[in-house]
Amino acid sequence: LMKVVGLTGGIGSGKSTVSRMIQKHNIPIIDSDLLAREVVQPNKPAYKLIVNHFSREILLEDGTLDRAKLRNIIFSDETQRKLLNKFTHPYIRREILKLVIWYWITGKKAVVLDTPLLIEGGLHKLMGYVIVVYCSEQIQLHRLMERDNCSEDVARQCMSAQMPLKEKIKFADFVIDNSGDLFETERQVANILNKVKPSLLNWLLIWLG
Ligand code: ATP
Repeated sequence: LMKVVGLTGGIGSGKSTVSRMIQKHNIPIIDSDLLAREVVQPNKPAYKLIVNHFSREILLEDGTLDRAKLRNIIFSDETQRKLLNKFTHPYIRREILKLVIWYWITGKKAVVLDTPLLIEGGLHKLMGYVIVVYCSEQIQLHRLMERDNCSEDVARQCMSAQMPLKEKIKFADFVIDNSGDLFETERQVANILNKVKPSLLNWLLIWLG
């Protein structure tokens, strides 16, 4: 009865920060950004699809993808962004599924799927619970500018390319408000994990059949 928990948020709202906190509670994390980088390595099938479409122009000298170049192309062109997703998403989903099965077989109580596009990609429907990491737009903007050393305009542009946090919250079973300090966030994380882990009562019910 392993729980699969989806973790998402807006750009710079604190998803990675919360993910690190969850990991400290000994709960495995499946990081979709990491998988997205793995499936486009030169020996992987998505790589071939990408090079066939975008040409070798988007490769670095060592044959790996020029991620900055690719990012520029898809940033300004939705058709290209959708195509890139079409090449990579099936492989990312397959890797996620493999890991979920692995953690299930090895008897983990819960696993957290950390992905920025949980809701946009429809994966939230497969989750036992959905956690959305929220912070006010003002703080989100401020932290983003500070972290990425970018202008307010660029930060706003990045934020507006995503589904607004206020929309994502509607899909959440739990909202973590990361507008406060890290201790405040840590407290909320611990609280939610207590609810998400199968309780003694659940185990008793399983044992009783
Ligand atoms: P992205 O979607 O871009 O990966 P994210 O949602 O993972 O962003 P983080 O990288 O976790 O966001 O946080 C954004 C920035 O804000 C980081 O520099 C982080 O150190 C800082 N930050 C996160 N939470 C807090 C907090 N509670 N107090 C102060 N700073 C914070």
